Amino acid sequence: MQSNIVIDPTYCGWDQATLLIFSENVFGNFIYYSHLFPAIAILILAAFVFLQNWKLRANRALLFMAVVFSIWSFFDLILWATEKPEFTMFFWSILIYFDFLIYVGALYFIYAFVEDRYPSVRAELVIFALFVPLLIFAHTSVNLTGYDYTNCYREALEGPLWQYYLYNVEILVLAWILIYGLYKAHKVAPSKRTSVRLATFGITAFLFLFSLGNILGSFEVDWELGQYGLFGMPVFAGFLTYLIVRYNALNVKILATQALITTLVILNVSILFIRKVENIQIIAVATVLLTLGIGFVLARSVKREVEQKQLAQQLATELAGVNVRLERLDKMKSEFVSIASHQLRSPLTSVRGYISMIIEGSYGEVNPKVKEVLTHVSDASRHMALSIEDYLNVSRIEAGNMKYEIADYDLKKLANEVVVELVPVAEKKGIKLEFKPATEEGVAVKLDIGKSRQIVQNLIDNALKYTKDTGTITVVVRKDKEKKKAYVDVIDQGIGISPEGLKTLFQKFERAKNANEINVTGTGLGLYIARTMANGMGGDITVASEGEGKGSTFTFVMPLNGIEAKWT
Ligand code: ADP
Repeated sequence: MQSNIVIDPTYCGWDQATLLIFSENVFGNFIYYSHLFPAIAILILAAFVFLQNWKLRANRALLFMAVVFSIWSFFDLILWATEKPEFTMFFWSILIYFDFLIYVGALYFIYAFVEDRYPSVRAELVIFALFVPLLIFAHTSVNLTGYDYTNCYREALEGPLWQYYLYNVEILVLAWILIYGLYKAHKVAPSKRTSVRLATFGITAFLFLFSLGNILGSFEVDWELGQYGLFGMPVFAGFLTYLIVRYNALNVKILATQALITTLVILNVSILFIRKVENIQIIAVATVLLTLGIGFVLARSVKREVEQKQLAQQLATELAGVNVRLERLDKMKSEFVSIASHQLRSPLTSVRGYISMIIEGSYGEVNPKVKEVLTHVSDASRHMALSIEDYLNVSRIEAGNMKYEIADYDLKKLANEVVVELVPVAEKKGIKLEFKPATEEGVAVKLDIGKSRQIVQNLIDNALKYTKDTGTITVVVRKDKEKKKAYVDVIDQGIGISPEGLKTLFQKFERAKNANEINVTGTGLGLYIARTMANGMGGDITVASEGEGKGSTFTFVMPLNGIEAKWT
C-alpha cells in the first residue's frame, strides 16, 4: 500500500551515499563483496578471453554477458546505498532490462559456444517478443507501483511485471538453455561432448542461483538471502576457467597455473572491498579454504605440466633419432632403386635390340608363329623399359638430381611431332588421334625439349590406355596472350575420373579404381613424374573430368615466351 506519509530522512537516520554506492545504509559490508567480487571476476575473465580472440562469437557473447551483469550489480548496489527515493525508483525500474539481458547474453553464449553461431532469426524474434512487454511497461506502475514511505526500508513496491512476468520468462529461457545444451551435447563430436555439457551446467547453475536470489528477495522480501545468488557468477567463471584450461575452450591457450594465480589475486583483491570487521571472519575463512583448494590444484597442475614438458622433451629427442634413421633409410632406398634400375636398363636394352633384329629378319627368315610370340616379348620388354625409366625418374626427383636443359621451342611443333609418332599406335587400337591447333601462329615456350615431349607423350599414352574401345583423342594447342600461357590439351572420351580420383592422381603410386577395371598394368608414377617435370620448367599439369565414363582432359600448361615471331 502506498502512503502519503513522507518519511523524513533524518528521522530514519539515512546516510548520504558517496559515489552512488558507498553509504551506511546497506545492511552490511558483505554486500560490496557479494556485488563486486563476482562482477570483477567475470569482467577480468571475459576481457582476457575477448582480447585473446575477439573474433570468436562465444567470446563476444561472454563479454556482453559480463558487462551487463556488472552494470546490474552496480545498479543494485545503488539501490542498497542510496537515500534518494527518486534514485531508487529510477534504477529499480531499469534494472529489469539488465536482468533480462543477462539471460539473453547467456543464451547467445551457449549457442556460440556449441555451434559458433548466434540463435536463428526465428529464435531472435521470440527473444524480442519476450522483451517487448518490458519496453512497454518498465516505466509504468506495472513494474513499480510506487515507493514505500511507510517504513524506513527505502524500498520500491514491485508490480506484477517482475513477479508474474520476468521471473516466468527467466525460467523459460533457463529451460531453453538447458534443453538446447543437453540436446546438442548428443549431437556434437564426442570430443566436444563433455565441454558442451559442462558449459551448459555452468551457465544454468549461475542463472538458477541468480534468479533464485532475486525470487527469494522479491517474494520473501529477504533481500539479504538474495545476495548469495550473485555467487552463481564466480561458479560459472570457475566452470569456464576449467573448460579453457582442460579443453582449450574459447580458443584460449592458458596454463592452469596462470588461471589459478589470477583467481587467487582476484580473491585477495576483493577482500579489500570489505570495510568492516563484522563479516571479515566468514569471508576470510572462505578465502582460506578456497586458497587451500586452489593451492592444492596448483601444486598438482604444476607437477603435471613439468612432467608433460619432460615427456615432450624425451619424445622430441627420440623423434630426432628416428628421423635421422629414416632419412638414411630413404637415401639408401633411392640409391638402391637407382643402382638396380641402371643395372636392369642396359641388359634390357640389348635384349630389346636383339629381339627387334630377329623380328626384322637380320638372323634369317623367322617363322610367322615365332614372330608373333617375339612381338609379344618385344611389347612386354618395352613396357618393362618404360617402368624402369619411371623408377629412375622418381629416384632422380627424390635425390634432387633432375636436370633441365631449357631451350626455346615451339610447343605446337612439339605436340604435333608426338601426335604423328603415336597415330599408328592409336590406329592399332581403333582409336582416332587428331591434332587440332587453335592458333595459326607458333607457340614459343622455354622448355626442356626431351622432357616436354615425354610429358605430352605420357598424356596421350594415358588417353590411349584409358579409352576402352573406340573413340577420339583430340590434342589441342592454344595460347592466352593476356595470361601469358601456352596450353596443350589432351581430350579423350575414355573411362573418365571420379571426383575422389581427381584429388590423388598426381601422387606417387596413385591409381584410380576404374583404372584397374580395364586391366591396364600401370605404376601410378607417370603423372607424378610428368607434373614434377612440368613444375621444374615453370609449368603445370591440370586435369578435368565430369566423372567416370565421361572422358577426361589433361592440360600441360607452360608460360608463354613472347617471342613467337621466330616460328610464325
Ligand atoms: P598409370 O597410368 O601408370 O597408372 P599415371 O600416373 O600415368 O599412372 O596415372 C595415374 C592414374 O590416373 C591412372 O592409374 C588412372 O587411374 C588415372 N588416369 C590417368 N590418365 C587418365 C585418362 N586419360 N583417363 C582416365 N584416367 C586416367
